[in-house]
Amino acid sequence: MSCSEKVNDPQFDEQSQKINQLLQKVDHKIVVMSGKGGVGKSTVAANLAVFLSNQGYKVGLLDVDVHGPSISGLFGLTGLKLITTGDQIQPYFYTENLKVLSIQGLLDHPDSPLIWRGPVKIGIIRQFLADVNWGPLDFLIIDSPPGTGDEPLTVAQTVTGCRAVIVTTPQEIALADVRKSIQFCQAVNMPVLGIIENMSGFVCPSCGVTHEIFKSGGGEKTAADANIPFLGRLPIDPAVVIAGDAGQGIDSLTSRTKETMQEIVDRLVQELPKKQIKDGSIMKIAIPLVSGKLCAHFGHCEQFAIMTVKDGKITNQEMLTPPPHAPGVIPNWVADQGCTDIVVGGMGEAAQSIFMTRGIKVTCGAPIDTPENLVALYVRGEMVNVGNSCDHDHEGHACGSH
Ligand code: ADP
Repeated sequence: MSCSEKVNDPQFDEQSQKINQLLQKVDHKIVVMSGKGGVGKSTVAANLAVFLSNQGYKVGLLDVDVHGPSISGLFGLTGLKLITTGDQIQPYFYTENLKVLSIQGLLDHPDSPLIWRGPVKIGIIRQFLADVNWGPLDFLIIDSPPGTGDEPLTVAQTVTGCRAVIVTTPQEIALADVRKSIQFCQAVNMPVLGIIENMSGFVCPSCGVTHEIFKSGGGEKTAADANIPFLGRLPIDPAVVIAGDAGQGIDSLTSRTKETMQEIVDRLVQELPKKQIKDGSIMKIAIPLVSGKLCAHFGHCEQFAIMTVKDGKITNQEMLTPPPHAPGVIPNWVADQGCTDIVVGGMGEAAQSIFMTRGIKVTCGAPIDTPENLVALYVRGEMVNVGNSCDHDHEGHACGSH
């Protein structure tokens, strides 16, 4: 049974609404995924949460990895039972800025394997999301089970606005699964913030030389092939294992690994959509223009109108000249301008896919009109997205993008 089979169930809908209401107070929801188990997904999720909280962000870390919940172990919280108040589950305050909650708390014994069938797992994850009051957070990091099965699907379909970070190791067998994870994210319309290559080389503590134990760089290439940001490589660090096993997995990275992790976190923060930073009501809408009106050929427009809209009103308008047309260049350039939305006549699948992975909402099928009129239509919700209108000639609608 998948989530989508439950769409007409009023209880299911009510629970979805409850989850959305609770998570509206969270600016950035990030699910950490991997194609395979054992690649360091939980280690990365835990470190992302800790590094972000150390920077002053309010962070929640939720472990829904039902098959191998390891977050409690990493934080030395194994055996901690769920704390409940009334019908709400309370996250554990690890520090003032970091709240942690693991599905591990549901287990009688930390080593007992969780043998739940799909529907039970979906129900438990949804209940976990519905019954936890995180309060206002800058980030909620969700450690999801590996693969592309029911559990990540539940997170993707339940947590509105969720974005993914994909963790891999350099081996081809892991990278093949990453490609599946990327396809999964595209299929469920979940933008990917980036790929992290873990266990990428070993820095010799004595001589400082990096030994490439597995051929590194595949994560970066996979990211480039899919037009997804590459967030960085984390080396194999024996301190990670020793500290993790001792329940001190977080503060015991060697200084070199800490520096690398910090760089990864900085890149991740840069990749976050600007619209979600603090004021959620601001949109920056890109419109390709020729002679002051919507350009039929998205990739060959003269200019882009970049319209800033706050609370439904245009507060700023910039006219920018895009770089020369080449595959993938203009979508990434539009994303780099901090745009949150793009309104076009038509757009090919490749460009749409880049916008999707960069977290920009694409609306196709706009009529040829001025940017002001198009924004007015758009903010009133009166512009219907016709999907890829490239190969149809809609009367009165612009068509064709490259
Ligand atoms: P996953 O969540 O993908 O199953 P974990 O985060 O639980 O993987 O990590 C699996 C094992 O690999 C753990 O013992 C962990 O300490 C170790 N590990 C993870 N990342 C590193 C690293 N960069 N260097 C050394 N060991 C690591």
